[in-house]
Amino acid sequence: MAAVMRLPRGDAPPLIHGEGTPGARWLAWSGWRDVAITTADELAPPGARVVIAAPHPDDEILGSGALLRRLALRGTPAVVVAVTDGTASHPGSPLWTVEHLAATRPRETRAALMRLQAGDTAVVRAGLPDGAVGRHVAALRDVLAALLRPGDLLVATWRGDGHPDHEAVGDAAARAAAETGARLAEVPVWAWHWATPGDARLPWARARRLAVAADEARAKARAMAAFRSQTQPDATTRRPAVLGASALARAAWPHEAYFL
Ligand SMILES: [Zn+2]
Repeated sequence: MAAVMRLPRGDAPPLIHGEGTPGARWLAWSGWRDVAITTADELAPPGARVVIAAPHPDDEILGSGALLRRLALRGTPAVVVAVTDGTASHPGSPLWTVEHLAATRPRETRAALMRLQAGDTAVVRAGLPDGAVGRHVAALRDVLAALLRPGDLLVATWRGDGHPDHEAVGDAAARAAAETGARLAEVPVWAWHWATPGDARLPWARARRLAVAADEARAKARAMAAFRSQTQPDATTRRPAVLGASALARAAWPHEAYFL
């Protein structure tokens, strides 16, 4: 997901501030009825490979954990591209140094996938700098394109998500999909924070929702708890957890949204 505090001074995304839209408002929104339902088989027909590009460790679970789980249980696990290792989540922390985060966060992704019963999911680490993916869009496009064939599904954070890394990943993914003939599905992650139900800035006409069953939502919540570096306050800097309660609660929503 990526903390905002990691961004250089003056570079904070204008849309991401404060507590954000309460999850209860999104859950109560009657407009979900008008968002067409999709299925894992429709998103990824048997035979198609699925590549999920995650800007930071945890975005793959928050945005697409139910899809990851279903593909794994179907016997066709996805490939996750870990775009960054999320090493900028705790700037200045004596506890969570860049080296400690680089060693820890990829392990947290593996643990989360295990908890999701998607332990066979391959993880390709692109190793791009956390907070500066926008300077490496062409390189990321090449990493993604090398994994794709026509008809495959590429899942990436939405190009309008309001966080620079998330938007850069969406941009690179759109280019890779166009180049290879893969289909693109964009996932809003930060948008739930800054947008409001029915918000005209979101491309609802392209939205599909994947229904998440109760056991899948529980598995996603368990998987999110594997990101301990993000879910615990940092006593050495007195900063709260990077992932707050509202972000974690989104992992238990009864649907995932994809913009096709
Ligand atoms: Zn992120």
